[in-house]
Amino acid sequence: MYAAKGRGRERFELFEPAMEVAVLDRLQLEAELRHAVDRGQLELEFQPLVRLTGGELVGFEALLRWNHPARGPLGPDAFLTIAEESGQIDAIGRWVLDEACTTAATWQRADGRDSGLWVSVNVSPGQFRSPALVEDVRAALRWSDLHARLLLLELAESVLLDDEGFVADRIATLRDLGVRVGVDDVGASRSLLGALHRSPVDVLKLDRSLVRPRPGGEIAPVVRGVLELGRTLEVDTVAQGVETDAQLSRLRSVGCEVGQGFFLARPLTAAAATKLALRAAAPVGERGRGAVA
Ligand code: C2E
Ligand code: CA
Repeated sequence: MYAAKGRGRERFELFEPAMEVAVLDRLQLEAELRHAVDRGQLELEFQPLVRLTGGELVGFEALLRWNHPARGPLGPDAFLTIAEESGQIDAIGRWVLDEACTTAATWQRADGRDSGLWVSVNVSPGQFRSPALVEDVRAALRWSDLHARLLLLELAESVLLDDEGFVADRIATLRDLGVRVGVDDVGASRSLLGALHRSPVDVLKLDRSLVRPRPGGEIAPVVRGVLELGRTLEVDTVAQGVETDAQLSRLRSVGCEVGQGFFLARPLTAAAATKLALRAAAPVGERGRGAVA
């Protein structure tokens, strides 16, 4: 089962004797991990984040290590999947949050002023979905007395791509606590940016939901971002779902050059489309009234 899971979902693998060794090894690690917190075997390393222009330190990313008594130091890749699959991720995640916040709270200036140095904590997909997460974050902040703005929770991009409603609500709840939420490994393989990097295309068509008018009528910042991405990649960006005059002029104002939608034209029969095509192809003076702008 672990071999099949490890190579992607919905697969099977034939059992081989070598797998028994791997399974026993895994079960042993799983059992040992249950005591790792109590026995003080977990440790955080802090990798500095540096402003590239001036070289100043701006924060640290907390990275988990397990000082295994027999195997030596283990990196997170060696045990985090086991922690997730054996239901231990909450307890480990709680330890990481407490430890990272407590350490970050000590990074004050000598004069006691807030240094503004933040700490990034990685939150695994299972931990993000756990009912315990919000309370654990709140408790770590209270316990450490760390200013909430100085805690950045890093979520895998794949987490954001799942189930819109729950994810959006949970992120909003976390941000309401005052902490910052980051997207980790942007452009990883199962993401649009990763895919565009591997497989260049010619056109980006904006989803209607992004083009829909927002309160106040402003263009969604993400639309500007996609247009900018289109310009950078030298591809056309097409807006879909243009339903009002106001939407049209706003899209024009941010440099969106091509659009489609009920305000411009409804879907036409082949005959009507041909008629329109021929009229559009005719020299300007010979076009009839009502041509698509
Ligand atoms: P790493 O320390 O081996 O961590 C690997 C991954 O484990 C992290 O990838 C993160 O997703 C996860 N992880 C670490 N600590 C925790 C934790 O406390 N909780 C949870 N849930 N997950 C955790 P990520 O976030 O991309 O971290 C950066 C990785 O890149 C770290 O590996 C770091 O040591 C490594 N790294 C940093 N700078 C460089 C570099 O210049 N080159 C290379 N090759 N690797 C680098
Ligand atoms: Ca990270």
